[in-house]
Amino acid sequence: MTKPLALGIIGHPIGHTLSPVMHKTAAKSHGIDLTYDAFDIKPENLESEIARLRDLPLDGFNVTVPHKVAVMEYMDELTGDARLIGAVNTVVNQDGRLIGHNTDAYGFITSVTKNGDVDLANKSVFVYGAGGAAMAVCVGLAQAKAAKIVIANRTEDKATKLAERIFQAFGQVQTEAVGYDSNKLVETISTADIIVNTTSIGLEGGDENQTLPGADNFSGSLLVDIVYKPLETEFLKSASAKDIKTLDGLWMLIHQGDQAFWLWTKKRFPVDLIRVTLIEELG
Ligand code: NAP
Repeated sequence: MTKPLALGIIGHPIGHTLSPVMHKTAAKSHGIDLTYDAFDIKPENLESEIARLRDLPLDGFNVTVPHKVAVMEYMDELTGDARLIGAVNTVVNQDGRLIGHNTDAYGFITSVTKNGDVDLANKSVFVYGAGGAAMAVCVGLAQAKAAKIVIANRTEDKATKLAERIFQAFGQVQTEAVGYDSNKLVETISTADIIVNTTSIGLEGGDENQTLPGADNFSGSLLVDIVYKPLETEFLKSASAKDIKTLDGLWMLIHQGDQAFWLWTKKRFPVDLIRVTLIEELG
């Protein structure tokens, strides 16, 4: 038997998270005795609660909304990806030192290469959105040596800042921000190899029926939605109807979780089992 593992997740609210079921399923398949607790922490209590978690016998924890950025200042060390993305989603307790990682860029790249079967090198990629997830996706695209990243966001200023930040950090990638409802957007989409939705449009219980401007003009090799609830969003459905290859956001979620599990256990997720389990969980 492998040594017991104590993990958890912090967020607010925390009820919706798929992380406990993912990590418990993986641990069971490896014969690891795991406890994985959900800690609902209000933003105003983050500092004191992190101090409390330090005193628990915890091997690590995941971090979800709204703490991914704020938690950075309570880490003893940040990895390169956490710094580049400007957020932490996985914490490893290394002999009392809290190491802040971010596995979202890894999760995104791995989903596109393994499950979308597309090599991102030298590709031209169009990204909707400029929030936290877009940051991780763009870092992943630059790390995977995409040639060009074009970003469009409802709040245009955020797209401009994200494009500048990625260019400053990586240099070798061409980045550009285009207006959310502009002719330039349509022109760029029609020549892109890959298109990614990182906005919350399509998310169940939110802006489910809203559409992404200009998406009909895409005719490249892969259309990705990082939203995973519902699994098949309207964005994916309309592309599938035109025989365009699509990739859902559950793959990214699984691979970011797999990388976190690897950091804690040096073991990999049984990816297919996890996917089946999560699809059942999503109903
Ligand atoms: P966030 O930081 O709050 O950013 C939200 C983004 O969506 C912003 O770009 C925002 O534009 C845009 N947006 C929201 N409502 C919109 C609307 N009605 N019309 C146009 N744009 C709209 O959130 P996030 O953390 O980036 O997460 C975004 C989505 O990605 C969520 O659905 C989340 O579940 C999903 N996600 C998936 C994974 C995965 O592993 N698959 C990982 C992380 C996140 P403004 O800037 O104009 O507000």
